[in-house]
Amino acid sequence: MTTLDVPTTTTGVAQAPVAAPAASGSRLARMRLPKVNDALLDMAAKHGVCIRPVSLRRIDMDTGRTEVIDIPCGATFSDKCPACAGRAQRLRTQQIIEGWHRTDEPITTDPVSEDQAALLIQRAQLEFDRAAAVLRRCRSTTKWPPSTSTPTSTRSTPRSS
Ligand SMILES: [Zn+2]
Repeated sequence: MTTLDVPTTTTGVAQAPVAAPAASGSRLARMRLPKVNDALLDMAAKHGVCIRPVSLRRIDMDTGRTEVIDIPCGATFSDKCPACAGRAQRLRTQQIIEGWHRTDEPITTDPVSEDQAALLIQRAQLEFDRAAAVLRRCRSTTKWPPSTSTPTSTRSTPRSS
């Protein structure tokens, strides 16, 4: 024993103090019991089950019955969900083994042909003409600037049509 009277192992590492046994049914005994939520989380992590499932409602279109389905959360960080993170890591490892990490794009696009470029220019010209026509129509039907409350204010220049 050391001078602090803390129990140590043969290697000299201090051990946690052993709690005194509590009377059965006492408040102390009940407080020492593990919480059900923590026990369920530990059990799910131990068996590789998602601990944060996402609930989706599924409606059978033939019968009209609904049911709630829990699907895995799909987290990639183990502090959020160890089971889903492990599953994602195994999937990514398999993808890398199969060569999903190509450095070049597998699908290359063809260069723009002359016909396609001409069609793009024609379409842009049509869009411009349409916008100009809409603007002309708006100018002919609305008075700008809007008339003020004073009766003496009129347009300074007559509009030619
Ligand atoms: Zn999960």
